[in-house]
Amino acid sequence: MSILAIDIGGTKFNLALFEDGRMTRRESRPTDREQGREWMLGQIEGILADWKGIDRCGIGFGGPVDFARQRVALSTHVGGWQEFPLSHYVQDRLGVPTIMDNDANVGALGEAVHGANGAGGVLPLFYITLSTGIGGGLILADGSVYRGADSWAGEIGHLTVQPDGPECLCGARGCLERMCSGLWLERDYGRSARELFEDAGFVERYVVDLALGLKAAVMLLNPARIVIGGGIGKAGDALLVPLRAELRRQVTGWSGARVEVVTAQLGDDSVLWGGLALAEAIS
Ligand SMILES: [Zn+2]
Repeated sequence: MSILAIDIGGTKFNLALFEDGRMTRRESRPTDREQGREWMLGQIEGILADWKGIDRCGIGFGGPVDFARQRVALSTHVGGWQEFPLSHYVQDRLGVPTIMDNDANVGALGEAVHGANGAGGVLPLFYITLSTGIGGGLILADGSVYRGADSWAGEIGHLTVQPDGPECLCGARGCLERMCSGLWLERDYGRSARELFEDAGFVERYVVDLALGLKAAVMLLNPARIVIGGGIGKAGDALLVPLRAELRRQVTGWSGARVEVVTAQLGDDSVLWGGLALAEAIS
């Protein structure tokens, strides 16, 4: 079976073709945030023009998705997506069964099913994508994605970590995403996340806010593992070592919850592999 996976993010978008569970093609392009939805769809159609023999498609979208209705709820980073029935659109264009979820849920699924400790090895798993924005996904002990009552679960990016902090795109103040996402790091510091994470002093301050967000996940969910995906996760030990120490310091002393934090084993491809897993499960 040939499965197309599409990963739409605020910084780049990726497409991959999986044939019998192996990635055989992959394309990555930068997202032009000024251009919006029609431009992006045109780019994707251009890439797919010579990708033949697709049987199914799985999509991870970088923003909230109404899973039951298979619509993008909104994108705070790229215009024109609100209420767009993306999976229906792709299904019509390709003529194959298509399914979509938000990229953090899909990334979580990719790590749980296809990561090095995959196939349910370390569950429940909480995945956080630290990228243009911040999202979270939870895979339960039975391997299913936890979406909550209205498919709005996991939005860790909009937990308040600094009540008097600067205003977030969502209208609240001091959200985890406002303090720790790549978009805001660039705007606030005038340097890319990559440069900032070479500065140990910056990282020491950064992990305090990030740990405030992850502490909520530890106390509420007691995951067996927290996986950090997205571009900022590529900082590796420069981020992980101080983050683990800070999280250990913050998590309430009497809690016996484990604090195991790793970076995504599938690197940039967590969402693509999750798209494969999502499409494989279409009944
Ligand atoms: Zn917010």
